[in-house]
Amino acid sequence: MTTLKQIDLTCPICMTSFTSHAVLSTNSFGGKRTDFHERAAGAQPLPYLVHICARCGYAGGERDFSDEADVTPLLREHVWDELAPALPEGAIPGSAKYEFAGKVAAWQGAEPRRIADLYLRAAWCCVDEGDVEAERFFRRHAAWQFEAALSCYDGVEREERAVLTYLMGELWRRIGDAALANEWFDRVESEVTDTAEQRWVLDAAWQQRSCPRDWFE
Ligand SMILES: [Zn+2]
Repeated sequence: MTTLKQIDLTCPICMTSFTSHAVLSTNSFGGKRTDFHERAAGAQPLPYLVHICARCGYAGGERDFSDEADVTPLLREHVWDELAPALPEGAIPGSAKYEFAGKVAAWQGAEPRRIADLYLRAAWCCVDEGDVEAERFFRRHAAWQFEAALSCYDGVEREERAVLTYLMGELWRRIGDAALANEWFDRVESEVTDTAEQRWVLDAAWQQRSCPRDWFE
């Protein structure tokens, strides 16, 4: 099961102090989806790996609420203008926390790779929240950011390119664009750097192109 702990955070934008829940321990006994979404047995840890200020909408990891937070006057302005008015009523779902964290990261000038991960996590939360439309919306945003990362010269480590190219295929497959998905699956082979070690990525791409599965075994 997933065990949570309470943590006290102070928002670096509006200085509000609040209590959030963080993950003390979790497990991966719930299996792994073919888009690398790991599931825990029992409660899912994902919504608790990101935190949000319910007053202004600033969101991020624990570090983003520490002295190391990268807060500029421009970021402050974006948060008050765009996040505060968009805060949902009541309990804030994990997907919204990651969406807001993704926007904060973009305003901080984070690498596309990091923004992509936040949107991918927002999509994963939507799966657990049962919101198919929002799930596709966030998958699209993740795909665009991963594509931007793959297209810059040093946006992605050389040995990571094959697996992210596979993930691009899997994102588009889950969005429902099979043609685009297959283009990315076909590209995986040309990105492989170590045939022995990355055999599984080639196999997964082939599998998802010919007879897709939703879960790895
Ligand atoms: Zn705040």
